[in-house]
Formats: sequence, C-alpha cells, structure tokens
Amino acid sequence: MVDRDATAPVLSVVAPCFNEAEGVSAFLVRMTAAAETATGGNFEIVLVDDGSTDGTWPIMAAAAAHDPRIIAIRLRRNFGHQMAVLAGLRAARGARVLLIDADLQDPPELIGPMMCQMNGGADVVYGRRVERVGETAFKRGSAALFYRLLRQLSSVDIPVDAGDFRLMTRRVVDLLLALPEQHRFTRGLVSWLGGRQEPIDYVREARFAGETKYPLAKMLRFALDALTSFSIKPLRLASWLGFAAAGLALMLMGYSAVQWARGHVVDGWTSLFIAVTTFSAVQLVVLGIIGEYLGRLVIESKHRPHYIVDAVISARIDDGPAPL
Ligand code: UDP
Ligand code: MG
Repeated sequence: MVDRDATAPVLSVVAPCFNEAEGVSAFLVRMTAAAETATGGNFEIVLVDDGSTDGTWPIMAAAAAHDPRIIAIRLRRNFGHQMAVLAGLRAARGARVLLIDADLQDPPELIGPMMCQMNGGADVVYGRRVERVGETAFKRGSAALFYRLLRQLSSVDIPVDAGDFRLMTRRVVDLLLALPEQHRFTRGLVSWLGGRQEPIDYVREARFAGETKYPLAKMLRFALDALTSFSIKPLRLASWLGFAAAGLALMLMGYSAVQWARGHVVDGWTSLFIAVTTFSAVQLVVLGIIGEYLGRLVIESKHRPHYIVDAVISARIDDGPAPL
C-alpha cells in the first residue's frame, strides 16, 4: 500500500477543462455543493487547464487562490483530454477519485449515489449513459458503433455507453497511474485493471455552454488510439485480407488457364486494370494497418513525458500540491 498523507481528503474530483470559460464557474458551484453534501466537506477539486486560449485559466486560478479545496493546474499547451485527465489523477490525493467532465454533461450530483454504491464494495463505479440529450444523431450513432466494435475486437471488457465519468478507489488510481503507456484510453485502461466495476445509470445532459472539443477528426484519432492500444486483431485481419487476395488471384489464374486451354485468351486491358487496382488496394490497406501500429510504436519508444505542467495554483495550507 502507498503511504498516504494523513490529511488526504475523502474525495478528489478531477476535471479536465479545455476552453470552458463560459461553464467552469457554474461547474464549480454545482460540483462544490454536491461534493460538500456527499463528503461533509472533506474533498478537493483538481481542475486541469489543457492549454485553453479563452480565459479558462484566470477563472480557475482565481478560484484556486481563494478556495483551499480547489487546485488549478495549467498544462503548457493543449495535450488532449486524456493527458489532462492523467495530470489531474497524478495530483489527486483523495481516498476516492471522481473523474468528471467540466462541461456539466455529467451531473455532479451523482457523486452522492456513486459514493453510496462504492460503500458496497465496488472498486469502480462508472456512469452509464442511458440517454444522451443534446448530442447529434451522428455522434450518438458513431459512439454506439465504436463501443460495440471495440468490444468485439478487444479481449478487455470495456463497457458500452460509458465515458470517463467514474468514481475510483485510491488503489485503482494508483494501479492506473502505474501503467506507463503514452496513448491513454483511460476508460479502457480502467476496465483492463479488472476488479469490481459497477455501472450507475444517468442521463447525459447537453453541454452547459460552449461546444464539443471533439470534432470528427479528433474523435477518429481517439477511436484509432483506443483500437490500436486494446486490440491487435486488425493486424490479423490484414493477414486474412492477404490470404483472401491470394485466393482470388489463384481463382483468376485458374480461370485464365482454362480459357487458354479452350483456345481463348482473357481480354487484356480491362482484366489487367481490375487485377492491378484490386491487388494494389489490398496492399495499401494492409500497409496502412501495419503503419498505424508502427506509428504508435515509434511514439511509445520515445518515452517523452505525457504533458508539461506550466503552473499550479493551490491555497492548500498543508504540504502544498502533490508532486506532479
Ligand atoms: N477536454 C480537454 N482537452 C481537450 C478536449 C477536451 O481537457 O483537448 C475536456 C473538455 O473541456 C471537457 C472534457 O474534456 O471537460 C470532455 O470534452 P468534450 O465535452 O468536448 O467532449 P464530449 O463530451 O463532446 O465527448
Ligand atoms: Mg462534453
């Protein structure tokens, strides 16, 4: 067991923020009230500013300077949602840690029921979205498809319809932080750790303010990261694609041989064109799949830090912020 600071709070709330200036104050009001009720006041809120450009930081910094229960961490640039989550988890000292989005799509008030459920012995209580309000049909559809595909492809039991909104025990957080990988698909890594993980149903609200920070391109990258770090089945699929192409090639050869024996020659240009384009396409797809994995291997092999911290503001009276 890790030797914990005796002053460690019962609950740490970790919230990544990227350009959330319009919503972060409202989030703090609701989150503080909910955590107050759930813990009797023994909590901390770790806000991580993921390189915002819209004034999120001054708001966060002011809140942290006035309230010793709030810690504000600023990353030097936008390192991405998952890195901001990691920075927050590293700074959190609580016996339990709640991961929550700062846009009020995940209701802070659910912390009470989540704490109760964890008292029953769960290691992780994760929010399961029974309904998603204010999200486009495309986002809902693509998310549903993605989580089901990921489940099919990976051997890890990653829950469908769950984001990073979850309450974790200190032990789970410590285990999670011990995983060294660069690409961090937090919800998958937590599932990978195993233990008792229980869902709690909630309605995912529309954003309080601002717009999603996950445009299509980012969503695709996120999905590819998740797929490549949790499954190598696409590589196997690439081999099968190769075998299927070889089978097709054999059939075509047989066909031309039979035609030749009958005194016909297969017509030239069109058949040649189709064969060349089909087989080049297969090769390119297979190369692309290999490339995805190779690219990630290159990034992993560099062992760069996950993010760089620019500033930490905390009015904690005890031992200052946790080491980052
Ligand atoms: N976020 C972040 N860095 C990013 C993108 C998002 O810290 O590069 C934060 C964002 O401020 C929010 C959470 O991650 O608190 C989830 O992002 P968002 O709400 O945009 O995603 P969605 O709910 O639309 O999937
Ligand atoms: Mg959101």
